[in-house]
Amino acid sequence: MNAAAYDAIVVGSGNAGFCAAHAARECGARVLLVEKAPREWAGGNSAFTAGAIRTTYHSLDDLRPLLADPGDERLERTELPPYTPDDFLADLRRVTEGRCDPELSEILVHDIAGTVRWLYDLGLRYVLLYERQAYLSGGRYRFWGGLVLGAAGEGVGLIEAHARIAERNGVEIRYETAAVDLLLEDGHPAGLVCVTPAGREEIRAGAVVLAAGGFEADPRLRAMYLGSGWDLARVRGTPYNTGEALQAALALGAQPAGHWSGCHSIAWDAQSPPHGDRTVRHRYSRQSYPLGIVVNRHGQRFLDEGADFRNYTYARYGAEILKQPGALAWQIFDAKTAPLLQADYRGPEVTRVEAGSLRELAERAGIDPEGLERTVEAFNAAVQPGAFDPAVKDGKRTAGIVPPKSNWALPLDTPPYLAFPVTCGITFTYGGLRIDGAARVLDRSGRPIPGLFAAGELVGGLFYHNYPGGSGLAAGAVFGRQAGRSAAEFARQRAYRPARV
Ligand SMILES: Cc1cc2nc3c(=O)[nH]c(=O)nc-3n(C[C@H](O)[C@H](O)[C@H](O)COP(=O)(O)OP(=O)(O)OC[C@H]3O[C@@H](n4cnc5c(N)ncnc54)[C@H](O)[C@@H]3O)c2cc1C
Repeated sequence: MNAAAYDAIVVGSGNAGFCAAHAARECGARVLLVEKAPREWAGGNSAFTAGAIRTTYHSLDDLRPLLADPGDERLERTELPPYTPDDFLADLRRVTEGRCDPELSEILVHDIAGTVRWLYDLGLRYVLLYERQAYLSGGRYRFWGGLVLGAAGEGVGLIEAHARIAERNGVEIRYETAAVDLLLEDGHPAGLVCVTPAGREEIRAGAVVLAAGGFEADPRLRAMYLGSGWDLARVRGTPYNTGEALQAALALGAQPAGHWSGCHSIAWDAQSPPHGDRTVRHRYSRQSYPLGIVVNRHGQRFLDEGADFRNYTYARYGAEILKQPGALAWQIFDAKTAPLLQADYRGPEVTRVEAGSLRELAERAGIDPEGLERTVEAFNAAVQPGAFDPAVKDGKRTAGIVPPKSNWALPLDTPPYLAFPVTCGITFTYGGLRIDGAARVLDRSGRPIPGLFAAGELVGGLFYHNYPGGSGLAAGAVFGRQAGRSAAEFARQRAYRPARV
């Protein structure tokens, strides 16, 4: 017999949690969503995003009906190479060095287009990411890197839309309600132990969905799992993703999965605060490095800025910056590429140095001037002939230097020069719980833990070493929806189970 007030209880008000709540509600479940943060911090990391969602499509016609403004005049001048489930799968396999969980990956790439459409039907609207993922050339917008769709209003718009849908559909939401443990019945999850401003509370439910994010905001867990120095990384998003729900599931016997010593981390403004700022959000990102060079305090390059499109390198370059002296680096551009820098390079929050010569730039920025001059001289001499085109992998590369620059290599020779100091900003952790294709949390023998489901950053097994940009929201949506459906179905069956005598 089920005496619970709720069929499903969802932990976390991010994209994954809201998708689970919508799906469970759609199946007729009574749903409570608990969120540890106060209302003004609702939406976790999802609220910090640019809203970019990696989805599949054959042509612009597949996406046009989903747009907030299907009459946008730019659409007629837009070039969008198709991006199929096979393309998405190939990207996932390539950047994770073949380690991504085969079952979860197949589900993700095949279900994302339908999930994006499902969210549209619920009330979400989308935009094409002209400012972040396309270059205007010859009067045409040319998209690159397989990532074209975003939530209207970025992460904030996404979470506002989710909250509206939840409210309209009758999902109950409680903020300042932190899940600290699982409530057990006959040894199985049957609700949560929560801490609220009023004290500890036990909340019973037919099924539990964990969507509480990773552990990236806890410096102790970062140092424990990611290794030395990671406690010093800046946190790009919410300070509330500190891993309690993850730990509670592990303590119950859930199976850890994925790359526990790995995380998504990027180049982030060196003057940024210790954790995310809800007004600046993702705009501390510095993602135009393929157009320039990146050097450390000694003026030395240490990575291939043009190894691939930014979408396939940015998530691992934060870790490379953390290894540099002072965990600092500088992105350097000249007047030729400055006009191509993303919008995140403009604005009051941007730390920026400008000078008429490389020596002056280095002195102002705090880089060794001789080191920078030597590096740029060698770099410029190594640039090979060829046409520069930022919308394709143009093969315009260097020869004879280490590390190489494999694409988009232009000499740095036209003042004024610009330097942007960056440090390592951690986005989320890759290690998490093992789930199956129905989003059921598995135990250490590989059996589903009855009544326990999970989605989003708290799940492990999809991402290793690296990540194709826009896959976090995509995975959270696909497996959040699945977790909500599975939880509703489990609660229904549990409710009809005869009472024991
Ligand atoms: C600055 C930034 C930009 C990003 N840009 C993109 C992008 O454009 N596209 C993309 O795909 N990904 C992006 N990401 C990654 C993306 O945020 C995530 O992959 C995705 O949004 C995570 O969703 P989630 O629901 O799993 O977690 P979250 O959105 O972080 O939600 C987890 C929620 O759980 C709550 N919580 C934590 N512990 C508890 C507890 N014990 N009890 C109750 N509640 C709890 C948290 O407060 C939080 O609200 C970005 C991340 C950041 C930080």
